[in-house]
Amino acid sequence: MALLIKAGREAPDNWIAAFRAALPDLECRVWPDVGNREDIEYFLGNDLPEGEFARLPNLKLIAGTRVGVEGLTKDPSLPRHVPIIRNTDRQRAATMTGWVLYHVIRHHRHFAEFAANQQARTWKHLPFTAPAKLRIGIMGLGTLGSTVGRALDGLMYSVAGWSRSRKTIPGIESFAGPDELESFLARSDILIAVLPKTPATDDLLDAARFAMLPRGAYFINCGRGTTVDEDALIAALDSGHLSGAALDVFKVEPLPAEHAFWQHPKITLTPHYSCTGSAAYGAEGVIEAITKIRAGETLTNIVDHAEGY
Ligand code: NDP
Repeated sequence: MALLIKAGREAPDNWIAAFRAALPDLECRVWPDVGNREDIEYFLGNDLPEGEFARLPNLKLIAGTRVGVEGLTKDPSLPRHVPIIRNTDRQRAATMTGWVLYHVIRHHRHFAEFAANQQARTWKHLPFTAPAKLRIGIMGLGTLGSTVGRALDGLMYSVAGWSRSRKTIPGIESFAGPDELESFLARSDILIAVLPKTPATDDLLDAARFAMLPRGAYFINCGRGTTVDEDALIAALDSGHLSGAALDVFKVEPLPAEHAFWQHPKITLTPHYSCTGSAAYGAEGVIEAITKIRAGETLTNIVDHAEGY
């Protein structure tokens, strides 16, 4: 029985090395060299050509090398009974947290203005707001959002999060569900979106939702570009309702050369770069899941096919 690997950015050999160390008897095959399809019990990757999953009759587990699973679930023939486990690579949460902290602190502590003042040889203090007075809202309190939230709480920011289900996380006020979205947005001086792409999150942040933020709010998106109505975001920036935005994800990637975001004076962007995993850490969750399957134990951290994450 074998694991089929269709690696993303990382070389398949790095994954194979991680699996060899923990599961020496696991045969690893690299797409497209599938061999006998009946041998494949486990799949690691973000997609296969449409219909290929249905041709793996003994498949017991799908694990993504990315966190978003839309590349997998878009295949209508994907067998619903095969569990997809969530990616819990610790390096992803750590690097995402670093990216978010950079943008929060850059905005809060006026580092862009200080850089301009340095160029102009201007010695000028800018207003200081105590972190506890700055209300940060995180949309999505899963693996990534909750790690980001705990780090911000550690820096004394006033942190709240919004998710489908209510959370109990020390230092993070929990808002849950559509009914509490408006009050969550109304208290977010900095809004951080780290939501998955699902039918429920598509265009969630539209003109009406941006209008619910306090005037002057700053917006950070490192979840999925599909969460944002991009025209509404530009309108909110141009009207002055939003003071700026840091964006890592976009509706269309790579961002088209003619897109208004590139040159917008209030937008700072990176090319889907906020968080990076590695085979060494990414393999941990896959090894745990395969070990559980072999022992006949129940899997945890499974994607809900119906909800899309
Ligand atoms: P998780 O599945 O652990 O968490 C997702 C969170 O979003 C959960 O808290 C969930 O609520 C919440 N959520 C989902 N749908 C809704 C909804 N309709 N309303 C309110 N809350 C909702 O995912 P991760 O934290 O690991 O990752 C989040 C997303 O980040 C990924 O799906 C991916 O799209 C994106 N990402 C971006 C990267 C980048 O480089 N920019 C890299 C990695 C991931 P609940 O807890 O109640 O289920």
